[in-house]
Amino acid sequence: MIAVEHLVFEYPGLRALDDVSFQINQGSITALVGPNGAGKTTLLRCMAALEQPVSGRITIDDIDVLEQPRESHRVMGYLSDFFGLYQRLTVRQCLHYVARAQGIADADCEAAISNVCKHLGIADRLNMRPGELSRGLRQRLAIAQAIIHRPKLILLDEPASGLDPEARHELAELFLALQRQGMTLLVSSHILAELEAYSTDMLVLRQGKIVEQVSVKSIQQHKPFKLLLAQPVPNLAELLKQIPEIDTVKIEGNSLALLKIPENNLQQHQILKSLLALNLPVCEFAPAAHNLQDAYLQSIQEGP
Ligand code: ATP
Repeated sequence: MIAVEHLVFEYPGLRALDDVSFQINQGSITALVGPNGAGKTTLLRCMAALEQPVSGRITIDDIDVLEQPRESHRVMGYLSDFFGLYQRLTVRQCLHYVARAQGIADADCEAAISNVCKHLGIADRLNMRPGELSRGLRQRLAIAQAIIHRPKLILLDEPASGLDPEARHELAELFLALQRQGMTLLVSSHILAELEAYSTDMLVLRQGKIVEQVSVKSIQQHKPFKLLLAQPVPNLAELLKQIPEIDTVKIEGNSLALLKIPENNLQQHQILKSLLALNLPVCEFAPAAHNLQDAYLQSIQEGP
């Protein structure tokens, strides 16, 4: 769905994107993460054909974004980090305006508005003005504007910022619903715990470079196992070496070990028995809580 090749973007005196290349599959929800100033907004703006890079190529659904920006807008939606809404228009008028700007025929606008509003739960707000909506509902209106033309891809820059936990949860549900309809989503966010609830992939940007692109499933599958002892055992490393199925990742304070072990439950049971046979005072033997945040912090620290 998306191919970015050797993208370079510069602000005066600053290279904000430095040879960025990646691909994104159709139907995925990719979390674009990275520290402040990493270049996430710049990358999304380039992909939305709002910035002209120095060099490189962006292809979305086989359309060259830099050469055919208008055509690319027909297949993508973009929600910027600080979006504006026309305060004098009602919700219906805001959506009608965007629908017409996106090339939807006048006769089809009402159906498109009603469809998108039903989807975003704002159908009962059509006659209100943005200033009368809560922050979460304004966010929904902005997303409605971004997807009214039923794009194949939607780029969202920090869509959850400023939302309360319930609204963020609803937003996650909405993203999953859009994915089920066949949309591809690229979402930048700092709230990693929530990205984990809906992302299929994670793209990590640091200082204008891609540091990592991983599938969230693989992060979850490769959770290390945690072995916690009731008290330190000085020769823990040597003892663990006696069990061939165990690959020790890390030992902390001779009482905590992170292990790579087979995923099979019966084999795990045998390993536990072997640990107890070695007289180790085991008080916890379970998958460690390794999540998107851990994987992100690891890739940011390791980096290229
Ligand atoms: P954040 O997480 O803080 O939103 P970001 O990853 O989105 O950050 P960008 O906003 O893309 O990062 O900024 C990338 C770099 O480009 C930063 O060093 C930033 O200071 C710089 N930058 C961004 N916009 C401009 C601009 N208009 N003029 C000059 N430099 C800019």
